[in-house]
Amino acid sequence: MATVELRNVSKSYGSVPVLDTINLTVADGEFTVFVGPSGCGKSTLLRMIAGLADITEGDLLIDGIRSNDLTPKQRNVAMVFQSYALYPQMNVRENMAFGLTISGLPRPQIAQRVDAQMLGLKELFDRRPGELSGGQRQRVAIGRAIVREPRLFLLDEPLSNLDASLRSQMRVELSDLHRRLRTTMIYVTHDQIEAMTLASRIVVLSHGRIEQIGTPMEIYNKPASRFVGEFIGSPKMNFISGEIASQFDAESVGIRPEHLSLADTSSGWLASVTLVERLGSDTVVYARSPVAGNLTVRLGGQHDFEFGQELRLSVDRRHLHRFGRDGGRLAA
Ligand code: ADP
Ligand code: MG
Repeated sequence: MATVELRNVSKSYGSVPVLDTINLTVADGEFTVFVGPSGCGKSTLLRMIAGLADITEGDLLIDGIRSNDLTPKQRNVAMVFQSYALYPQMNVRENMAFGLTISGLPRPQIAQRVDAQMLGLKELFDRRPGELSGGQRQRVAIGRAIVREPRLFLLDEPLSNLDASLRSQMRVELSDLHRRLRTTMIYVTHDQIEAMTLASRIVVLSHGRIEQIGTPMEIYNKPASRFVGEFIGSPKMNFISGEIASQFDAESVGIRPEHLSLADTSSGWLASVTLVERLGSDTVVYARSPVAGNLTVRLGGQHDFEFGQELRLSVDRRHLHRFGRDGGRLAA
């Protein structure tokens, strides 16, 4: 179990700044997700916590102790990567036991720990990584991290190589695992759905800076910036600027697709349908409005629309997000 604190942490590669003045506290037992677009610095931040990258400036505290200069081993953290990094010549059991073998734990205890953390791997124990599917390999990599009983788990896009259905199954398994172990976890992903479904707290990063820290619902309901509003949520938030935004005293206003609805009167914005996606449970309608621009509307249930059909769309004003000139959220 561990707390992690970053105080004014910055990182440069040579003269190129990559992370800028990161301040962050991860509470004991929390499942924190770092999310942001590719290249924003997520992996670098995680690697600095693991001890795999130097910290240029600032302090890293693990359990309140400054740990900038500790080796990865001294930090007692376990990291799981996107590429499974298993030893190809060892079978599953040997792969899982390897970290313990080099730590000098007695053999019977190693066997006991490995057996206790099967993650549905028992029937695969004698296979080598080459004889496993992607999902099975990643289970072994996670299992190998668990048997070490680290005080902190660091996971860098562990599900990115898996197909969509396996990813959602593994999300459930990871949530279960966290509930069971209660170990502090920091998980990096560029996938906002993984962030929303796994995290107790999300840290949104962009260009080496923290844009927002909050629970998934805080971030969804009150994005601190236009960037966060656009990055979190699918289909994406609508943004309207110009005349309509200035009516609300804003540079732009953001409206989530589920907060637009069909108006049956002559009120609302006139728009014509450009594309319809039928998901079965929902219908996503893309429409072009002369006054409001391109709009995405998410309607519950099944609806029939034709290309070019004219609609009136109204907005639920309680769910309108106002953003200023610098992209920051304006008070309601
Ligand atoms: P993310 O994981 O969010 O995709 P990274 O942390 O991998 O982002 O990278 C952040 C930035 O740092 C990128 O611009 C990347 O090119 C740069 N970078 C990462 N590692 C190195 C390195 N070893 N040397 C130089 N630049 C690097
Ligand atoms: Mg990365």
